[in-house]
Amino acid sequence: MSVAKKQRKLRKIFGGAMELRPEKGRMHLVGEAKSWDDAVQAGLICAKKGSDIHVVSDVTVKGLEIPPMRVPELRDNALEGLRPDVMIIGAGVTGCAIARELSRLKLNVLLTDKEYDVATHASSRNDGMVHPGIDILPGLLKKKLNTRGNRMYTRLCRELNVPFDRCGQYLCFRQKSVLPLLYLTKPYWLLSGAGSTEVLTKKALKKRETDVSDEAACALYFKSAGSVCPYGLTVALAENAVENGVRLSLDTAVLNMAVEKGEIRSVNTNRGTVYPGLVINAAGVFAEDVAKMAQDRFFSIHPRRGTNAILDKKARRHIVSIYSLMGTQSKSAHTKGGGVVGTVDGNVLVGPDAVETPEKENFATDAESILKTFEKQRHAAPWLTQGDIITYFTGIRAATYEEDFIVEKGRAVRNIIHAAGIQSPGLTAAPAVGEMVAGMVRDYFPKAEKNPSFDPNRKPIVRMAELSFEERAKYIEQNPDYGEIVCRCEEISRGEIIDALRRPVPCSTVDGVKRRCRPGMGRCQGGFCSPLVVKIISETLGIPESEVRKGSEGSRLLMGEKGAHK
Ligand SMILES: Cc1cc2nc3c(=O)[nH]c(=O)nc-3n(C[C@H](O)[C@H](O)[C@H](O)COP(=O)(O)OP(=O)(O)OC[C@H]3O[C@@H](n4cnc5c(N)ncnc54)[C@H](O)[C@@H]3O)c2cc1C
Repeated sequence: MSVAKKQRKLRKIFGGAMELRPEKGRMHLVGEAKSWDDAVQAGLICAKKGSDIHVVSDVTVKGLEIPPMRVPELRDNALEGLRPDVMIIGAGVTGCAIARELSRLKLNVLLTDKEYDVATHASSRNDGMVHPGIDILPGLLKKKLNTRGNRMYTRLCRELNVPFDRCGQYLCFRQKSVLPLLYLTKPYWLLSGAGSTEVLTKKALKKRETDVSDEAACALYFKSAGSVCPYGLTVALAENAVENGVRLSLDTAVLNMAVEKGEIRSVNTNRGTVYPGLVINAAGVFAEDVAKMAQDRFFSIHPRRGTNAILDKKARRHIVSIYSLMGTQSKSAHTKGGGVVGTVDGNVLVGPDAVETPEKENFATDAESILKTFEKQRHAAPWLTQGDIITYFTGIRAATYEEDFIVEKGRAVRNIIHAAGIQSPGLTAAPAVGEMVAGMVRDYFPKAEKNPSFDPNRKPIVRMAELSFEERAKYIEQNPDYGEIVCRCEEISRGEIIDALRRPVPCSTVDGVKRRCRPGMGRCQGGFCSPLVVKIISETLGIPESEVRKGSEGSRLLMGEKGAHK
């Protein structure tokens, strides 16, 4: 659509409330919308899918105040005066994958995140699907990176010792009549990078996924799809990067930058001013804000919520891999349609939906999302019951109006690389994004040598529940803590929790321990084990129990010390 046509469409729908101004290298959208949904719709009208001329939106909404980015209260000088070669902003799966790739080189790399742990935003709040890339338009960067990332998973997860199940995915259809057409699409999927497929009749599908809905008349099976624990992978990437020399600084928010003559001179954080040679923007929903600080804002992010429910392990008997039924998703929803996913940890995930939101860090869940998602997914999985839900979560996608990833060097600033707009399938693509960014970093540091001590392999935390009785006995003999079960639902021992606290990326919170070795992930959601986990953290780290937090700042679990009230 030409610019004039877009301008006419805007006027027709919104009167003169919003205006599109084509500027050098970007489409500037200004004005005041009646609602956030209107503001997003206007942005989408002005954008061209996959275009590298991005919509930059300065549209405001009457009466709407968008909360500012949450910043840690901590103020110290831990990073003051540091001069890393590369500073990565954001320790989600993208930033951690980049950090690990860069640790192959002899470079001084600083990885920062404003949160108390890695993987607290989208990277721990997603479906954990390694997508085959079925519904991504050919030609988009995210298609290319999804295909490459998907192929990298088997080796990556082997090296990092992260459970990965290349379980495949069934796309089910209601009409038997599409069966012959499905055969015809097989070469397309192969050529498009989605990989090898199988066509299944209803009978064949039912043999493999016995509890799939009778509405499914046939299916296309994508062998390359898989399932991974997204925060497990992110923690593993960060640990391996740190073991190979990357410095990680958590609770570190980038607040602003000094830019002179098209170059970032310094980066101001709550922990001091840093002077990096090169900055990498992997800040998820805040990537636009970081680009703005760097005076290199040429895209906008419009956050999009997605809510999932996690089901009890007893629901896992109904599903072998991943499935969804075509024709049950709403046409306007920008989502891969969601589905029902059997996770590597033995649970079932149901969701997600897709709702535009101005709030980048509002992870609250709502009943409406869950109800709608269940209603939709019951068409594929009639066995779904809300009684099996053990918890919910919401994640926020960092979408650009062009609905594609941006992985490129700064346009107005010499020493920044953006890895922005990394919405779904960002988990799948992360290893490939890491590789691509590392390639660009080599252009800035052509003389950087290989890191001779780089070791791609990472030792995992031992999982007692997965060992044979003989193996368990050996561990317990060496360390009786492995024999003391703390989390009954997930069968996690005291020894595993202590291991989690002493890893290369240490943690000191109940949620941090939970993400590393799963106490509290089961049916009771920590009802029984949380007080014990608090006690173990307190004893191991030598801090009072009252100072042990659930997660972020201010999330203390106890109001005071036992016996303090007389
Ligand atoms: C509901 C849902 C389901 C999804 N399902 C899938 C799926 O099944 N498969 C798939 O491939 N993808 C999926 N995705 C997409 C995937 O989760 C994301 O693409 C991916 O996690 C993005 O990772 P990231 O590191 O770029 O961003 P994030 O994980 O959001 O990390 C960005 C980090 O930057 C930090 N940060 C931001 N600003 C600053 C600052 N100023 N200073 C310091 N730190 C800062 C934040 O604290 C955050 O930790 C899903 C997403 C959602 C929301």
